[in-house]
Amino acid sequence: MTSPELYEAEYYEILDYDAQTVRCHLCPHECLLASGDKGVCLARKNIEGVLYSLNYGFTEMKIDLIEKQNVYHFFPNSRAQTFATYNCNLDCSFCPVPERAHFDPEKKLNKRFSPDQAVMFAVASGSRVISFGESEPLISYEWIRDTAKIARERGLKVLLRTNGYFKEAPVRELLPYLDAVSINIKAANTEGYIKLCGGGNFEQVKKIIKLIHDSGKLIELSFVIHEELGNDDIAAKEIAEWIAKELSVDVPLHLTRLKPAHRVMHMLPTNITLLEKAYATVKEQGLYHVYLGNVPDHQTNHTYCPNCGEELITRTPVGTEIRRVSLQGRCNKCQGDLNIIMS
Ligand code: SF4
Repeated sequence: MTSPELYEAEYYEILDYDAQTVRCHLCPHECLLASGDKGVCLARKNIEGVLYSLNYGFTEMKIDLIEKQNVYHFFPNSRAQTFATYNCNLDCSFCPVPERAHFDPEKKLNKRFSPDQAVMFAVASGSRVISFGESEPLISYEWIRDTAKIARERGLKVLLRTNGYFKEAPVRELLPYLDAVSINIKAANTEGYIKLCGGGNFEQVKKIIKLIHDSGKLIELSFVIHEELGNDDIAAKEIAEWIAKELSVDVPLHLTRLKPAHRVMHMLPTNITLLEKAYATVKEQGLYHVYLGNVPDHQTNHTYCPNCGEELITRTPVGTEIRRVSLQGRCNKCQGDLNIIMS
């Protein structure tokens, strides 16, 4: 760290020493920046030919149940010390936290946490899991990596929630410090990303999903369903087909109900009939673990054994009840594998 405010970024190259131009290689935007410029994310700035991360350690923290984070197969019914970071590289019309996503680190004073402080709070809280999410944590890449590394050394499990729109090299470097990753898919094709998020590329997101899955880390995926977004049952089917073919049928997929926000405040929450149709369509593709999100008290909130059909984890608005899952993540009735991390 060069000063309390500035941390030299990684994953960039100097294009011209005299002209002081650099290119950031953290995400596929690959911003070309003259001195004084900030990237699309507003969090990385070229100052006289050096690229700095402006939001190193900018975060809020809270204790949250894992289930509240669209993650059902990673220490179910546990508490996570959750760090809500700032800035994002996409501009999604349905973003629930637009002020946080488009935060200018130079204009506001925020509390910073060093990686040591963040882990100390997590350990003191008694949480088993440390979670990074809200807006896009990988924009705070260096801080996430440094904190995740220390968290692992102190025996915590690490969960990352991301949009997945990043380059392979930084994700590869981060993988050893992660235990589980939740990726929110924005659209079923690149045209959808551009329409809904002002940019992005689904092919690149798929590459990152596959990279994480092939590394052996637990991965859970989510996808917002709403007709007016173009994210309907047909789009969900395309995503499910890809998961079954390129990943595995035991990858959990959460089909979530739109909560009106940001530029889609005028839309109604997703019709339950469409959500149930998308659920049935995805199940037909052979996926084992499909959940409807933001639909409390629905039978699709529970986890069932893909082998014997037994209801194993019950989720209601009151809480989560683990009924018949072994510490090895197997069905206690038939010993079927559930792709769940319990210990
Ligand atoms: S991380 Fe930010 S600065 Fe770097 S390429 Fe992406 S949007 Fe641009």
